[in-house]
Amino acid sequence: MERVLYIDEIFLKHKTPHGHPENPERTRSLLSLLKKSRLPNYISVRGAILADIKEIELVHDKEYIEYVKHLIEAGGGFLDPDTYVSSESWEPALAAAGTVAYAAKKAIEGEHYVAFAAVRPPGHHARRSEGRGFCIFNNVAIAAEILRREGFRAAVVDIDVHWGDGTAYIFYDTDEVLYVSTHQDPNTLYPFEGFPHQKGRGKGEGFTVNIPLPPGTDDRGFLMAINEIVLPVLETYLPQIILVSAGWDTHWQDPLASLEVTINAQWEALNSIYAFAESISAPMVMALEGGYVNWVVAKSSLNALTVGKRPIFTEKSRPQGVPLEEVEYYLERVKEELRGYWPI
Ligand SMILES: [Zn+2]
Repeated sequence: MERVLYIDEIFLKHKTPHGHPENPERTRSLLSLLKKSRLPNYISVRGAILADIKEIELVHDKEYIEYVKHLIEAGGGFLDPDTYVSSESWEPALAAAGTVAYAAKKAIEGEHYVAFAAVRPPGHHARRSEGRGFCIFNNVAIAAEILRREGFRAAVVDIDVHWGDGTAYIFYDTDEVLYVSTHQDPNTLYPFEGFPHQKGRGKGEGFTVNIPLPPGTDDRGFLMAINEIVLPVLETYLPQIILVSAGWDTHWQDPLASLEVTINAQWEALNSIYAFAESISAPMVMALEGGYVNWVVAKSSLNALTVGKRPIFTEKSRPQGVPLEEVEYYLERVKEELRGYWPI
């Protein structure tokens, strides 16, 4: 089986308050596009797999897991001002974590070399004992931790517009999981950290690579960050699997952030990462994080499965964003900070 899209109606059950950007329509838009589209025959579709509590406990404190469960059983409520659980959120939360973990395990076993887990709730802001930023359990971190314990080197590449503080901090002290993130300048966006000098600690020093981008960064600037920093770091780390935190909120229409990226460059970025993964025979497993324009969530998620081939969907190019020099200035700060660790 070549490539697998994991998607399931179970993710519709995680409800959020009226007007919340992270809502079931994100899943529904992908399900309906899937119905309308003729997928290339190399893509198969599979349902969700629920995580075992023991897998969740690899990354999260038992007390926190119990707290979430009780809040859900009591009818739901807020984990933080942005993060809501409803009375039916338990199964989707387990399914989001379990599906990414399952996809990662199957990838390492050689069952598929490209997978996209279109899960929700997202995960990359969730910390060991704290649900934050629309996230309950850290889906990608759980998958990376399962693999780490089995002796595999995973690289997490986070292309969401927000810094994945949860994932970064979970692996902040280890060199056994690499975390590389492109995101909008945290001086201007949640979670208001993710600066280049936050590069890991102890054995993990240098293994957190934060690449902030100025508001207004367009396709060229975004791809420049991938080519000049993300790829050289990956080429040096040589992971056995690449896990991608695939957030689509870099898109120019996204209501939560201010980058100027199109679905074309979202695909190009993944395509470049995939070309590297293929060259070292490492599988690539992508998991949905943010992205709050539903057509973008649907199209970029399906496009993600066509890396190395041709995207199914494109959009017309945009006027230029901030001058490229400004992006170069930002990238230079990252290089200065991390040059001692990586050939950048
Ligand atoms: Zn995001």
